Amino acid sequence: MKSASGLVYTEGRFIEGSVSMSKGRLKLSPKQNGDADTHGIILPKSVNCHTHLGDAFMEKPKKCTVEELVAPPNGLKHRMLRKVSEDTQVRAMAGATSAMFLSGTSHFIDFRESGLEGARRLLMASLGSGVTPVILGRPDSDNVDEVSALLNVCDGIGFSALSDLDYRTLERISDQTRAQDRVFALHASEAKREDFGMILNLKPDLLVHMVRATADDLEACAQAKVPVAVCPTSNAFFGLVPPVREMLDAGITVCLGTDNAMLAPPCILDEARSLRAMFGEAELSDGEIVSIAFEGGRKVLNSLPGLRGAYLEHGDFFVLESPLDDPFKRVLEAKAENVRLFDRGETP
Ligand SMILES: [Zn+2]
Repeated sequence: MKSASGLVYTEGRFIEGSVSMSKGRLKLSPKQNGDADTHGIILPKSVNCHTHLGDAFMEKPKKCTVEELVAPPNGLKHRMLRKVSEDTQVRAMAGATSAMFLSGTSHFIDFRESGLEGARRLLMASLGSGVTPVILGRPDSDNVDEVSALLNVCDGIGFSALSDLDYRTLERISDQTRAQDRVFALHASEAKREDFGMILNLKPDLLVHMVRATADDLEACAQAKVPVAVCPTSNAFFGLVPPVREMLDAGITVCLGTDNAMLAPPCILDEARSLRAMFGEAELSDGEIVSIAFEGGRKVLNSLPGLRGAYLEHGDFFVLESPLDDPFKRVLEAKAENVRLFDRGETP
């Protein structure tokens, strides 16, 4: 497919238009094109703002708590990560990057465990996938040299919680990350509330979850202009509900992530549907959910240190072959199999 015509999502609304390939680049035109290769809803590629592809090799676990499954060092996931072979893990992560490409994602922000070796394996899995990884590494120790080495090969650092390391060490790593113009991100208040003053004091560029955040925490988060990635599928697995309405009302930039790959395929269309299933239309409109899924991620990616301008607006699109009535609703009904990609010579 070299050209598509229909409704194009831009600046929070759908306009009539078409997109076509010209000299290897996609060009947006504000009018329909009857000769286009296909017709449908044209969306900017999504940014998956929170993944852990490292556990893609694991089967979906039975119901359990956040702590039992993902808390370091002895949650089930971490025990499995210590055992998995490189070949098995890289193959599973490559499958996940391919699934992201085919579902219309251009970038993903991964919290990659296992230090430098973890980052190396994700890079290998991403090569040639057509999606760009933003790798937030996690040091295996509090060793300054290890953090420095990670910051040289990764886009930043991502911690699982305030409790990962002692607080002074987290402060030092936050300073070191900022000094190298890299991203400092962490999970916050997922299953239980954490001290938000201590979190903000680390000057995070991105927080994940904030399920247990209070109204004051959300207010402070908005004041500090820290975006939040919410992961409704993962939250639902643990019986949690993120306060998305309250986040938007506070003025926080909200984006979507698919969290642990063992819990769900890394598909932003699925995640948007999951958010729709979690909240009624009186709480979150279709337009707000589509904006979170297809504008929030781009805004967040472009706000991160070292990554400003990484996502070109009108740079890349995909098409949902779908009728054009009520496009917001159509997007929230769509699945990966409805996605068609422009032929740019990329391979999944
Ligand atoms: Zn996570």
